Amino acid sequence: MFNYSGKTALVTGASRGIGKTISMMLAANGIKVIGVATSEESLKSIQNIDNIIPFCCDISNEKSIEELYIFSKEHSGSIDILVNNAGIHMDNILLKMKTDEWQKVLDVNLNGPFYLTRILLKDMIKNKNGRIINISSIAGTDGNKGQSNYSASKGGLLAFTKSLAKEVGRRNITVNCIAPGVIETDMISHLTDTVKNNYLNRIPLKKFGKPEDIGKMILFLSSDEASYITGQTFHIDGGISLN
Ligand code: NAP
Repeated sequence: MFNYSGKTALVTGASRGIGKTISMMLAANGIKVIGVATSEESLKSIQNIDNIIPFCCDISNEKSIEELYIFSKEHSGSIDILVNNAGIHMDNILLKMKTDEWQKVLDVNLNGPFYLTRILLKDMIKNKNGRIINISSIAGTDGNKGQSNYSASKGGLLAFTKSLAKEVGRRNITVNCIAPGVIETDMISHLTDTVKNNYLNRIPLKKFGKPEDIGKMILFLSSDEASYITGQTFHIDGGISLN
């Protein structure tokens, strides 16, 4: 439906869940994708897929980001579309939260997107073209008990998105955010049936989302048709954020 001819993308957290689906949907539409995850082992899931080039990188490590940048330049030239999708959670009530749990979640979910966006932005500015899409969460807009670290990182990503959109709009670069609700991936596999049923009761559409629901919005935001949309947060959550 959309024309992405000659476009390149970089997707973090591409080995599983939402990021894997995003990478596959972009690749299926002819976009050359650098897919990033933490280990060679996890990246096997996206090996040998047309248009996807896997690369191992811990996005919380600034040195690894520099290596990723050099690799992406060699293998796909400048990146047109950046999807900051990788994320982790280490849940605990605040009184019991260890400094390490706070720090690690902020390092991956917020510092990682900062390092990567900053390094890729130079080429986007030079090319006067770019799409940056950050995957936040309903926890970032509404908060969630036991997830003060995760919510702070995802809320930070929302504010980062708006600020950067204001900074780079005149360079023809758009920056947007997606705030998923509950999406069926490994990230929710630890939830008990009781917790899942509580969520289902609160979701107006009475079902969990699928990674494809996020992928479709990524395809739209990456297209020319979305060229006048920036600084926005799109809730893809079956309506749970209406409560
Ligand atoms: P997931 O299934 O747990 O997958 C996480 C991905 O992030 C994996 O590919 C993982 O790579 C990668 N990753 C983790 N730490 C990394 C690091 N330091 N450097 C590079 N890659 C790293 O997660 P998901 O459910 O697809 O979630 C994707 C995004 O959506 C996350 O930002 C999450 O917070 C957000 N989100 C998810 C939901 C949901 O219900 N699922 C709801 C709201 C928001 P490895 O395989 O190598 O570990």
